[in-house]
Amino acid sequence: MINPIITIGDATLSDGGRRVESTLKVDPKLKGYFVDTNFYAEYPINVSEAPPGILNIPALSTVLHFAVAYGADIEAGEVDSEYLKAAEEAQAYLKTCPGFESLKCATQIRAKATKAPSRASPRQGLLFSGGSDSTCSWIKRMREDPLLYMVWGLDIPTWWPEFWEKIRAKYVDELRIPNLRLVKSNLEDLYATNQLYTLGAKLTEGYRPTYSFSVNALGVLAPLAYLDGVGLLQLSSTYPSRHYLNPRYPWARYRPSFLINQFWRWGQTRCAEVDHEYSTTEKIRYFLKPYLDAGHRHFLRSCGNRAGLQERKLKWLNCCSCDKCQRTTSMLAINGIDPREVGFPVDGMHWARMRSDIEGKKWNPVYLKYHFEEIQSLITKNTEDYSGSRGLFNWLRGYRFA
Ligand SMILES: [Zn+2]
Repeated sequence: MINPIITIGDATLSDGGRRVESTLKVDPKLKGYFVDTNFYAEYPINVSEAPPGILNIPALSTVLHFAVAYGADIEAGEVDSEYLKAAEEAQAYLKTCPGFESLKCATQIRAKATKAPSRASPRQGLLFSGGSDSTCSWIKRMREDPLLYMVWGLDIPTWWPEFWEKIRAKYVDELRIPNLRLVKSNLEDLYATNQLYTLGAKLTEGYRPTYSFSVNALGVLAPLAYLDGVGLLQLSSTYPSRHYLNPRYPWARYRPSFLINQFWRWGQTRCAEVDHEYSTTEKIRYFLKPYLDAGHRHFLRSCGNRAGLQERKLKWLNCCSCDKCQRTTSMLAINGIDPREVGFPVDGMHWARMRSDIEGKKWNPVYLKYHFEEIQSLITKNTEDYSGSRGLFNWLRGYRFA
């Protein structure tokens, strides 16, 4: 059977070399999956000195994960030879991974392989969202002074400039996070999301957090990381690698994430998922806690509850009522950090609501059990109290998740 084809037009530059655009031509069979075929990415610097093989990577990475899932081929002009090899290796590896059976993994990329002149240096880069994992990875590497890359268009949608502006102001104007590079792209806006989900249930679970998110997030940075001379571009892990080796964890079946991300590379830039020797609770204890104790201020952006944030008209930037906010506030409190200090406006109601949500099985109980078992194991009589957190922990210690 012949695979349908997605053709990626050569990247064009505008806005003083800061905006890269590519037009996609999509086989009629795939039309229902796309709502837009004009890709763009905006960078904080002029990227026109990056060779075409590197400039074509952002659009390619945006369609690559879809093509691999669907079984479509891709045609493009010049593409960096290292990236082409990485795409092939990652696909071959995905094919052997349990949990990804719904992905076709039959994509051929037809492009002219080119080699980019070396610009690499010992400089490190780190994908930075402001959440617990990337914040801790940044603190851990502070001495190496990594460049931090934050992408508007990944988990903050491009149609929500009010939210992006508040987050930008927080990190840039207020906290003055050094070396923060802001990128904007419609990489998530091209797809009809509901149609994507029809490609298979796996797509909504393991495929996105394990594969498509990082392909997108890393690929869109290619021209910038190349010109920045980043030799190692890092992505902080979500789960510790020891969990992937233990089938009792529900996410163990998606174990390839930290391995897949080691494949990505272009020019002299190599990507790696890092700090997977720690759980998020451990990262908070070993890196964030000492950082705050030393007198630094920080803000954690953990919440992904768009509806909740909109409802509160962005009065807070963490909703405090979704499962992720509940988990994060618990990890902070158990490590002796007042959640209010880092952007979570908790009060006594927060902990009471959390108990009733857990008892009422509001969140997926299978995931909850494993998320909270580490917190349960850390509760002691001396655990600090933050607006009633101790009461919640005393109850949680004896609670048995189903
Ligand atoms: Zn939330």
